[in-house]
Amino acid sequence: MIRAAGRDGCTPARKAGEAVAAAWDTAGVLETVVVQCPYCGEQVEIALDPESEGRMVQDCEVCCQPWLLTVRRRRDGEPAVEVERAQ
Ligand SMILES: [Zn+2]
Repeated sequence: MIRAAGRDGCTPARKAGEAVAAAWDTAGVLETVVVQCPYCGEQVEIALDPESEGRMVQDCEVCCQPWLLTVRRRRDGEPAVEVERAQ
């Protein structure tokens, strides 16, 4: 069986900022970073768990293309995030 790559499961959500704000209010543990989508060029704010490090895949909220995120931590704990195309 051939699975259509990608877009079906993703709903573009311009309300993501609100969700992040709500998470901040209740848990106060999420960090947000702004990355530039390598597909559509939009600057998109994403929420990171403070423990997040390494590589992960996340869909662009604007164009639903998959990102490969590489999260590194500096000595002071600040995240440095790189975004590549995941396909
Ligand atoms: Zn995009």
